Amino acid sequence: MHVPLLIIGGGLSGLAAALRFARFIPDVLLLEQHARIGGLNSYYYRNNRLFETGLHAITNYAPPKLKNAPLNRLLRQLKIKRKELDLHQQNQSEIRFINKESLLFSNDFSLFNAEISSKFPASHNGFQKLLQIIEQYDPFKPLPFISARKIIQEHLQNELLTDMLLCPLMFYGSSIENDMDFGQFVIMFQAIFIEGMFRPGGTIKDLLDLLLKHYTSHGGKIKTRASVKHILHTGKTVHGVRLGNDEEITCDYILSTIGSEETFSLLDEPSGLDVLPRLGFVETIFELQPDTTLQQGYDRTIIFYNAADRFEYRQPQTVVDFNSGVICMPQNFQGLPLASFKEVRTTHLANYNEWKQLPRKSDSYKAAKDDTALMSLSMAEKILGNFTQNIVYRDTFTPLTIKHFTAKKSGAIYGNPVKIKDGDIGYDNLYIAGTDQGFLGIIGSMLSGVSIVNQHILPRL
Ligand SMILES: Cc1cc2nc3c(=O)[nH]c(=O)nc-3n(C[C@H](O)[C@H](O)[C@H](O)COP(=O)(O)OP(=O)(O)OC[C@H]3O[C@@H](n4cnc5c(N)ncnc54)[C@H](O)[C@@H]3O)c2cc1C
Repeated sequence: MHVPLLIIGGGLSGLAAALRFARFIPDVLLLEQHARIGGLNSYYYRNNRLFETGLHAITNYAPPKLKNAPLNRLLRQLKIKRKELDLHQQNQSEIRFINKESLLFSNDFSLFNAEISSKFPASHNGFQKLLQIIEQYDPFKPLPFISARKIIQEHLQNELLTDMLLCPLMFYGSSIENDMDFGQFVIMFQAIFIEGMFRPGGTIKDLLDLLLKHYTSHGGKIKTRASVKHILHTGKTVHGVRLGNDEEITCDYILSTIGSEETFSLLDEPSGLDVLPRLGFVETIFELQPDTTLQQGYDRTIIFYNAADRFEYRQPQTVVDFNSGVICMPQNFQGLPLASFKEVRTTHLANYNEWKQLPRKSDSYKAAKDDTALMSLSMAEKILGNFTQNIVYRDTFTPLTIKHFTAKKSGAIYGNPVKIKDGDIGYDNLYIAGTDQGFLGIIGSMLSGVSIVNQHILPRL
């Protein structure tokens, strides 16, 4: 079998890239090692119902009239109509530093601006100056690392506010510890605070099914349970892949969305890129009785919290760091059809190597998962009030779960801290897209797949 383009990985970047390409040349093949597509953003069934992984909220909300907004550009590139997605905006979200301060934000930026002015009046002018810089900055210009923390602190002159601004942006888009590249900060600031968050009316399965329907309607092909074991190449030119069942497929181009180092290992080449710690996460989904009313913060969509003296976004020394985290209530979006279930989802930083000491499925692993759920619950209840009695089911996934289902090194959602922004890893006809290209989250990863196809592959065919 020979195809012009072979895409490795059926996550959101691979799916978007495949759909974009298939609109012009239908002979594209998407290979996914798992039985199900979606990668980090997928779903599974437990307790007779569907549980989503990954999707808390989609960043980069934009009204239809903003033609150049990332969301609208993406939909145009994929030829998907807005109404097919049934978008619901967040209610409002919160950055809560327990016993210190709280900042509310929504898809109306004036709320966040007013919150900062009233709670941090001395930083008001500095924040306005920072906004001007963010507006004028080109985050896609290739530049060496510039510390976002340093620039923010210089303008705000307030460590608490600096930490509070960084907390959601790091949780939703930083692969490095305790700081961000300023370009990445600008991208995430616009995506979360200026544009805001939304979710589709259906589940992540509906979104994936929609992408797949469009893709196959253009003639695109997909193989699931198709794990690529080797990329076949002569020098710096690739000419195909070998799958786990020894089948060989040849191609003119390969786009790999599985990670930079993971791609180098399929080429049997050292990457030289594995130099910084990778960040792992645990997530617990608490399914609640449908009539549950949470006491405090019940209408919030997402709460980013910190309970420690300083906010530390780094690999913890122990299995999980409960001092900070994300609490998501996926039913709290405007106009969402009343779901027959309610959920609270909690996410915390975790240490992959510590989890690895506990063999998956062993009693000690199960016990650590139970402890994680209980500790996480007690942190969430400090903010939301008591809801233990309303829990009908709970499930926890760890960095080992993520590694098992997505083959992501160290189960690190945001991949390698070293990003390859132009997707070029030094091969004539092999590019990378997705997480390790540096565009994180759902919209970021999809735009990354589309942009590599547009810039490097379509013009050459
Ligand atoms: C708990 C959690 C919460 C999140 N919350 C949000 C959120 O609220 N909002 C948001 O925007 N983003 C969120 N994200 C992040 C978002 O899911 C990811 O950034 C995005 O999905 C990454 O897509 P990707 O295509 O780059 O990578 P992946 O999803 O990792 O896709 C790579 C694919 O490649 C496949 N693969 C790997 N190796 C091989 C191989 N050898 N052969 C064939 N296939 C292979 C994998 O199985 C996988 O399907 C969250 C993620 C998680 C896990």
